[in-house]
Amino acid sequence: MSTALETIRTNLLSVQDRIAAACQASGREASSVKLIAVVKYAELAWVRDLLEIGVRDLGESRPQQLLQRAEQFDDSVSWHQIGHLQRNKIRKVLPLTSLIHTIDSVKLLQAVDRVAAELSLTVPVLLQINVSGEPSKGGLSPAELPVVWETATVCTHVELQGLMTMAPGTRDLEEARETFAALRRLRDDAEQQLRGRLSLPELSMGMSGDFEIAIKEGATMVRIGSGLFEGLNPAGA
Ligand SMILES: *Cc1c(COP(=O)(O)O)cnc(C)c1O
Repeated sequence: MSTALETIRTNLLSVQDRIAAACQASGREASSVKLIAVVKYAELAWVRDLLEIGVRDLGESRPQQLLQRAEQFDDSVSWHQIGHLQRNKIRKVLPLTSLIHTIDSVKLLQAVDRVAAELSLTVPVLLQINVSGEPSKGGLSPAELPVVWETATVCTHVELQGLMTMAPGTRDLEEARETFAALRRLRDDAEQQLRGRLSLPELSMGMSGDFEIAIKEGATMVRIGSGLFEGLNPAGA
């Protein structure tokens, strides 16, 4: 028995309990929030442990690492691309991902649509929004959204499912809450303006330090990395 497995199991149960409690506090079903285990800093052995205890949604930041790891596991794993997707990686990444969270420009949206068409795929995507406007952060600015909606409605091989954001790097939880609330408002406004032409049910927001706040503000997907691997040390460290 690996002790890493026991540690990960304990961490997972604790995160799941906190998700359930946050859902209950806001009158939501626990099943309305999907946990995506972010494995960008995790050893391969820990990824195996996660799978052994039933986790199936895994997130990677770097397309290269997603590609390498996806090859090592069967297709019961749903891979989520949660970091910037370079255009020269699109062709390889599309067949392996269940959701791209990080469409961060109109050009990338068009490029994904074009490659998906060539590969005869329909690719679920989210738009990454830079709500706070921090220059260091990737993502579309809210001002760009009208053009994005026009583009999305003519894309035939991407399925736009919702929005994604990251809280400002300040660790100020009130700022995080405002960011998450703003993402939800952007979604609500867009759905209202585009009545019937687009539906954006998914909100990917919340990480280890702020997922409960994100759930209260309407997150349907939380992306959790460090919280699952607390108490573990990488081999060789
Ligand atoms: C690393 C990362 C996460 C997970 O962050 P933790 O604080 O480790 O939970 C979530 N989303 C994105 C986009 C990330 O890059």
